[in-house]
Amino acid sequence: MDLSILYRGPLASCDYDCGYCPFAKRRDSPETLRADRAALERFVAWVSAQTDDRISVLFTPWGEGLTRSWYQRALVVLSRLDHVAEVAIQTNLSSRTAWTVGADLDSLALWCTYHPDQVPYERFLGRCHELRDSGVRFSAGIVGLPEHLEAARRLRADLPDDVYLWVNAAEGHSYTDDEAAPWTEIDPLFPVSRFPHSSRGHACRAGESVISVDGDGEVYRCHFVPRTDPTERIGNLYNGSYRRALRARVCPLTQCDCHIGYVHMPELGLYETFAGGVLSRIPAETPVPVRSAEAAGIRPR
Ligand code: SF4
Ligand code: SF4
Repeated sequence: MDLSILYRGPLASCDYDCGYCPFAKRRDSPETLRADRAALERFVAWVSAQTDDRISVLFTPWGEGLTRSWYQRALVVLSRLDHVAEVAIQTNLSSRTAWTVGADLDSLALWCTYHPDQVPYERFLGRCHELRDSGVRFSAGIVGLPEHLEAARRLRADLPDDVYLWVNAAEGHSYTDDEAAPWTEIDPLFPVSRFPHSSRGHACRAGESVISVDGDGEVYRCHFVPRTDPTERIGNLYNGSYRRALRARVCPLTQCDCHIGYVHMPELGLYETFAGGVLSRIPAETPVPVRSAEAAGIRPR
């Protein structure tokens, strides 16, 4: 079975201080850090044992994981397993990248978000160059706020053409065509992010071949559908109960507005666009061919 797993353990702390983020400069207690490490090690052991499946993993911690040695180790260990197709993490790239040396670079990938008000430009760009020089696959990206536009243009100009720079539509922000145009110049796939995708009643691979797993191994379809409804619990990873509950489902939410969610909606065709890098957001083709919103299958909703 092909299974993609979005893993999020107890960790909920970050070294950055983004104004809109609940994890900004938050510190975890030593107990939480111990629990996070133990949960992650349990998860890695579980993935290691699933040799009959083909597994892809995206770590999506609340806060920043790569400042913790156990996330670096988990990525290296998982990347070296033959049955792991891709293992990636969302990161602010604040940490040094030397830990990647031991990893299998065919399956390791990083999703790197640039926060212009948190890190000097040269430092973020330098880390991107370190990754590229070491052969580590990664995407870089930025939130499409007006005050980020110059930094995004500069980064696009300074990154090699074969490094994808994605732009996320800012939450709660709508873009006129004129406002969207400069972002689409930077990221030809910005039209995919520009509008939330209508999803209620639409097919989604979440809950069938994609799952969200927490530190206790509890399995849900995705990070977004609320877990208050007990029928939303799919099962548990560690007792195997999740497996018999995997099945085709339709989305119960009005819309899905995050790449790590809507990328799994078959109607959008994004598994083709991001073949080989669905979880790390690395397109199959770089530079990404310039295409209109219509050509990408996306229309205003
Ligand atoms: S880098 Fe990410 S997790 Fe950290 S404060 Fe900023 S938005 Fe939050
Ligand atoms: S469309 Fe988005 S919110 Fe709906 S099930 Fe899929 S990932 Fe979850």
